[in-house]
Amino acid sequence: MVEAISENPLLVESGYIPFDRIQVEHIEPAVRQKLQELEQRVAEIEANIVPTWEGLMVELEAIGKAFEYLWAPVGHLLSVKNSDALREVFEKMMPQIITFTQRIGQSRPIYQGVKAIKDGSAWDKLDQAQQRVIELRLKDFDRSGVGLEGKAKERFNEIQTRISQITTEFSNHVLDAVKAYELIITDPEQTQGWPLNLKQTTAQSYAQANDTQSDVQAGPWRVTLDGPVMSPFLQHHRGREQRKEVYLAYVTRASSGELDNTQLIVEELKLRKEKVGLLGFNTFAEYSIDTKMAPSVQAVEQMSEQLAAAAKPFADREFKALGDYAAQQGFDGQLKHWDVGFYAERMREALYDFTDDQLRPYFPMPRVLEGLFSLCGRLFDIEIKLANSKATVWHEDVSFYEVFDKTAGQKIASFYLDPYSRPADKRGGAWMDSCMARRRTQGKLQLPVVYLVCNGTQPVGDQPSFMSFGEVLTLFHEFGHGLQGMLTTVDYADVAGVNGVEWDAVELASQFMENWCYHKPTLLGMTSHVETGQPLPDGLFDKIVASKNYRSGSAMMRQVQFGVTDMRLHHQFDPDGQQSFLELGREIAMAMSSLPPLSEDRSLCAFSHIFAGGYCAGYYSYKWAEVLSADAFAAFEEVGLDNEEKVTTLGRRYRDTILALGGSRHPMEVYKDFRGRAPSTDALLRHSGLTD
Ligand code: ZN
Repeated sequence: MVEAISENPLLVESGYIPFDRIQVEHIEPAVRQKLQELEQRVAEIEANIVPTWEGLMVELEAIGKAFEYLWAPVGHLLSVKNSDALREVFEKMMPQIITFTQRIGQSRPIYQGVKAIKDGSAWDKLDQAQQRVIELRLKDFDRSGVGLEGKAKERFNEIQTRISQITTEFSNHVLDAVKAYELIITDPEQTQGWPLNLKQTTAQSYAQANDTQSDVQAGPWRVTLDGPVMSPFLQHHRGREQRKEVYLAYVTRASSGELDNTQLIVEELKLRKEKVGLLGFNTFAEYSIDTKMAPSVQAVEQMSEQLAAAAKPFADREFKALGDYAAQQGFDGQLKHWDVGFYAERMREALYDFTDDQLRPYFPMPRVLEGLFSLCGRLFDIEIKLANSKATVWHEDVSFYEVFDKTAGQKIASFYLDPYSRPADKRGGAWMDSCMARRRTQGKLQLPVVYLVCNGTQPVGDQPSFMSFGEVLTLFHEFGHGLQGMLTTVDYADVAGVNGVEWDAVELASQFMENWCYHKPTLLGMTSHVETGQPLPDGLFDKIVASKNYRSGSAMMRQVQFGVTDMRLHHQFDPDGQQSFLELGREIAMAMSSLPPLSEDRSLCAFSHIFAGGYCAGYYSYKWAEVLSADAFAAFEEVGLDNEEKVTTLGRRYRDTILALGGSRHPMEVYKDFRGRAPSTDALLRHSGLTD
């Protein structure tokens, strides 16, 4: 029996989320009841638009708050406590949720009301954060075509529909092309040098595909174009002809026959251009940049040029060194694309002979957390305390913490930490998500709460979890996002914490924290060998640092090349012109890679990030955010990382600007407040070892 509606935990809008009481059975009745109420509320708002902050924006905020209690926990549970029943009800309710949010996002009366606030006489009396809430809302409205009328509106909607069909078709082609390819290996001799998990995955894949058995050591093994198979295969498989075959299949996937994406790409580029034309933009790149931190397409191009100019000589040298190394190993001839990964991996092993398993005993999780919390305490004047009794959780591994301002002695935020992997019902990867935004409703302040979710190694017996260095980095990364979510001082949920932060600026706070893992006293302070209690030896620390920059010139060039290709396709390129997009891609690759592209290479046909994902005219964001985080960390290096007094002063400034203001102002202004100037690429190049 379902409890009475009044007791439905998803409908209680106060306190922490009652994870101990939420059952799958609560979801459907709660969503139905709440949506009905909210729809009525929206209809009332639309019928009596009051174009003031109190009259309209506060009302819209209240709807956001209801969603925080009603639907956000459902999405969270789907990721951390999945079940068939939960998935079923999630999929059942999702369309109604989407319809409701679209209804607000495309409501003309609300749009006009928000616009009237902006154009009204009271605009100047709003504070900066309130103005930004309104500006971001208006931008969303404008970009969804709410302001268009007549034929233009019709065409806009038509294009939207077609683009979403194209992206689905595009992804399906890529998936099907990956599925269609296999290389079967039956001779155990040929798997010499393979890591164990490559054998496991490919044996399992063979068994599944053929509905039979396969032995991990005796085979057969099925090699596919799936990333987690293809990459280690190219790195470890000794048979050159087979590497060539797999490589060629990979760079030509979804580019011929029934699964050919070529025409879809041309059509998509044309439609994107036409769509943004209706909204008043010249190119899709300009439309993309309009909601980014980067001030202009030119600024992005300039960053790419600076990074490429510095990295290219290093990449060329790395390629030459790789050729020399291969020759020493008895390789005869010119290195081809299918040789690079293989020899790069052999050379890495020769240079940096350490493994994750060697490092783990030094990183017991409690010690790492202690180190992380004490670093944050020093830098940002906060104190983090375990508070498991204050909130209920979804799994016994999860801990709950409260964050206090040290000077004021006041609680300012809290967070859940779900550290270990649970393959049966928890999604892979690591992420930070907002559980409750900081907001003030009816004069009452709600403090921010965030989720920090990792997939670290589970503890065995009474031992703690021993972390790999990669897991430590991931924890610092997510905690950086978490700090921006928790140390916000903004009272409007739309722009509090990470909300409202431009896409290309979001990874600043997270990557900034990663830098501390390469600071010797910080890292060594978090290590204590399980048996000896000794910190990580200097030799191992040096290897960690050196291996970070192994072939960093080539890695930099590769990312910049993708970014440049994406930007040019969405800015200068004319989809109706003489040159094909493949020719443009090849031209850029010719100029940027140390090994000229193959004439067969049609890998743009599977560039899902930009043709089926959100990275269109935004791929550069990866590098943009790295430039920011390196440059921000460099501010600390400049005062001297061991100068306690100056580091704490600067830490406060970082907290008061980047962490506190979040989305409440344009990120470039916030950044300049912290750094005193616009970001520079120097620090990233230096940290990557790309300076002479
Ligand atoms: Zn991140």
